[in-house]
Order: sequence, then structure tokens, then C-alpha cells
Amino acid sequence: MAEKSYAVIGLGRFGSSVVNHLHKAGYEVMAVDENEERVQEHVEAATHAVQADSTDEQALRDVGIGNFDVVVVAIGVDIQASILTTLLLKELGVKRIVAKAQNPRHGQVLYKVGADRVVFPERDMGIRVAHNLVSPNVLDFIELSPDYGVAEVAVSEKMQGKSLVELNVRAQFGVNVVAIKTNNDFNIAPGPEVLLQEGDILIVVGHNDDLRRFEEEM
Ligand code: ADP
Repeated sequence: MAEKSYAVIGLGRFGSSVVNHLHKAGYEVMAVDENEERVQEHVEAATHAVQADSTDEQALRDVGIGNFDVVVVAIGVDIQASILTTLLLKELGVKRIVAKAQNPRHGQVLYKVGADRVVFPERDMGIRVAHNLVSPNVLDFIELSPDYGVAEVAVSEKMQGKSLVELNVRAQFGVNVVAIKTNNDFNIAPGPEVLLQEGDILIVVGHNDDLRRFEEEM
């Protein structure tokens, strides 16, 4: 299968981070912004960096936007520009559009005008940080749906030297430990008898309510 090509429109903090990561991972990525300075900052970090106003249909055609497999709309503050850009991309036949939303209403509109996926980076980061504040053992949290998530939880004193079966994790909390990270090693199918050690990190999947109980009580 041929490697995918990406275009990122809007080179603020979020768009810039997406461009950098894709480029480092070796993908073709075109960086687009209406602001020439922002474009110049990305000349090295992207395969192409071009100045264009994405609310101008002809400008989008000129940069060949239809040739990219995935286009990311990373315009945040200017909600009108973000919506109009998404609509134009859809009309121009872009196969997959991922758009960043400022708030739930903005997200709803983006889906209506044709986004295939809407991301809420500020909201998601807020949730991740809040989990860590409530329980410092929680190193990270990713929402899978409004009800389910994956948490990265550092082994607490209470868990050290015990096995998953002894801790009775599944029956007591209804969550599943799907992997254990020890230093840089990953045990991706941990048996029930594996003894947990100081410094180990558990990757736990479950309902948010159950995860919260696990985080608080463990
Ligand atoms: P962040 O919160 O991720 O920093 P911003 O909303 O501050 O995002 O940045 C969005 C970027 O999108 C800015 O660099 C801005 O110049 C660019 N941008 C805004 N409107 C357009 C447009 N119509 N066409 C192209 N780029 C745009």
C-alpha cells in the first residue's frame, strides 16, 4: 500500500505539532497558512510549505488539495474560516477531512459540513490533566468514547509485590489490565500471576466510572 500524503491547514500550535510529527515519521506533508511568516517557519519541517487562504476555493485548487489523502483543518480561533474551509474541502472531494474544534457546537457544525473526524485537543488535554490531578498515579488518560477510556497508571505501594489475580482487579473494579510496562519493555498479554513491581506502569481499559474507582482506591 502506498504511503499516505497529508496536508495541514493552519500552522498554529496544534497544526504545527501535527506537521512536525508527520514529517518526522517520514510522510509527505504539505503545510498551509495564510500567514507568510508561519509558512516560512515550516519550510524545513514540511515537504512543502505554501501560503494560501483556505477560504478561497481557487487557492485550494491551486495547491492541489484534492491530491492529498488526508487534510487536517487546524484553524482554531477563526471559527468561520474553519467551517468554510471544511465545507470547501468536502466540495472539492477530499477523501478524509480531520478538523479541530474549539467547542462542542463548533464540532457539530464541522461534522455537518463534511468533516470525517473532529478533534478537541484542548478539551482532551484538560481531561488528561484532570485525571492526573485527581490521582497522581494516573500518568495519562485517553478517552475511547464518552463512557470508556484507557489509563496509564503507575503501580502504587499497595500493588507492589502482588499479582493481578491477588489484587482481583477485574472482579473488584471491572477493568482490564491489557499491558504492563517495565522500564522500556512491554508485556502486552500479562498473565494473572505476574508480580507487579515498583516503577511498573499498567495500561488499564474500562468504563470511566470503574477506572475512576480503580485510580482512587488502588
Ligand atoms: P492554535 O490554537 O492551534 O495555535 P490558531 O487558531 O491560533 O491555532 O492558529 C490557526 C492558524 O491558522 C494561524 O496560523 C492562522 O494564520 C491560520 N489561518 C487562519 N485562517 C486561515 C485561512 N483562512 N487560511 C489559511 N490559514 C488560516
